[in-house]
Amino acid sequence: ESTFGEVTPRLTVIGTGYLGATHAICMAVQGYEVLGVDVDQSKIDRLTAGEVPFFEPGLPELLTKALTSGRLRFTTSFAEAAEFGDVHFICVGTPQMAGSHAANVSYVFDATRELARHLNRRALVVGKSTVPVGTAADLAELIATTAPAGSEIELAWNPEFLREGFAVEDTMNPDRLVFGVASAWAEEQLRASFAPMIEQGSPVVVTDRMTAELVKVAANSFLATKISYINAMAEVCETIGADVQDLATALAYDSRIGGKFLKPGLGFGGGCLPKDIRAFAHRAGELGVGQAVAFLHEVDAINQRRRTRAVDLVRELVGGDLTGKRVAALGAAFKPNSDDIRDAPALDVASTLHRAGAQVCVFDPAALDNARRAHPELEYGESLLETLRGADAVILLTEWSEFQEIAPEVMGSVVAHRRIVDGRHALDPMAWRAAGWEYRALGRP
Ligand code: NAD
Repeated sequence: ESTFGEVTPRLTVIGTGYLGATHAICMAVQGYEVLGVDVDQSKIDRLTAGEVPFFEPGLPELLTKALTSGRLRFTTSFAEAAEFGDVHFICVGTPQMAGSHAANVSYVFDATRELARHLNRRALVVGKSTVPVGTAADLAELIATTAPAGSEIELAWNPEFLREGFAVEDTMNPDRLVFGVASAWAEEQLRASFAPMIEQGSPVVVTDRMTAELVKVAANSFLATKISYINAMAEVCETIGADVQDLATALAYDSRIGGKFLKPGLGFGGGCLPKDIRAFAHRAGELGVGQAVAFLHEVDAINQRRRTRAVDLVRELVGGDLTGKRVAALGAAFKPNSDDIRDAPALDVASTLHRAGAQVCVFDPAALDNARRAHPELEYGESLLETLRGADAVILLTEWSEFQEIAPEVMGSVVAHRRIVDGRHALDPMAWRAAGWEYRALGRP
């Protein structure tokens, strides 16, 4: 735990989902007084009882520690939040709008309005949610017209870059902090709110609010583009009979390119990248610069085609017709070490196989409950081996380590046919082929 300078702001975190709960817990562990706020009473009850409502390594232990310290509490009352906090972090969801590529920012506006109504003292409101460029300006206007007369309230933007699965590490020790501010006072409040991270050496970029909003969507667009770039190369490899895995390995040795996010496979999913690149392209169009980011449509299309290709590989492996074939689908979460199934490639592929007539059984070490709720039409295994029993083909969809560690012989002893599609390039083809498996992967001969 660190010490800070003279000013120690009291923090509220509004919206206690993946981002907000992590932020609230980590800030309390760092020594701040924190109040978490959500409109979902059951979420507040669970957090108050010491239960993290989602899977995130390390977070449950820190929640217990923060609650025990007395520095972390949760509430559904905005009045209480307004009275308590000096700095208010807005962390509510900004999902893709139904029937459109635009982001739904209504929760951000609702939360900000509700807070501003009660704010009758000096405070800094800090947007952390990922929003379309220009949202901060509209929110500043909303605050100015909603807050009680005489209250001095400012808005700043502080985009969040945490990765699910590494959320604690990324929050405690961020790669960089971006402060989008309209005054020196706002910058001071933010520096005081992140004092331990700044002391530890996290670089700070101070800029205007609009640039801060843009940093987040620009970063996610770059990452998505990198993944789709190597997956486009996988399409080329598939057609000409080359090996995208070797290609990626060779490219990665160029330090200007680097190996991170250059992994060919089923592509990206989750609650951020897909919706963020769509919302960015949509907003750029509204702002008259749609052409500058038109390539993001292609990035999205390449990503979607990987899912189709994975289904085709299974179909080819079982002889051309999926009807009645038993397929063991390993993975449901959009990535390992997460129970997040938002826009998960794994579940998309599993449900497409199901619609094509296959009898699909899904297993995931953490995301089964979420998957069941979203896709009740699929079958779910209670264990890995039970899921594999009698399978005509296996498809690895999420690269959990327990799927990579199981020996080909062990898996081979329970399936009906030794056929596997490695959707994540997570297995050693030599070892699996040596054990009598027909092994196929995206972009490999
Ligand atoms: P989430 O759906 O897990 O959590 C959102 C929370 O906001 C929910 O608990 C919901 O009940 C609450 N909420 C909704 N309306 C509210 C209101 N009016 N007042 C108070 N609370 C309200 O979403 P998330 O994954 O935590 O994402 C939140 C934001 O952070 C999004 O903009 C997302 O793009 C961004 N983000 C997420 C991640 C991530 O890894 N999850 C990383 C960086 C940025």
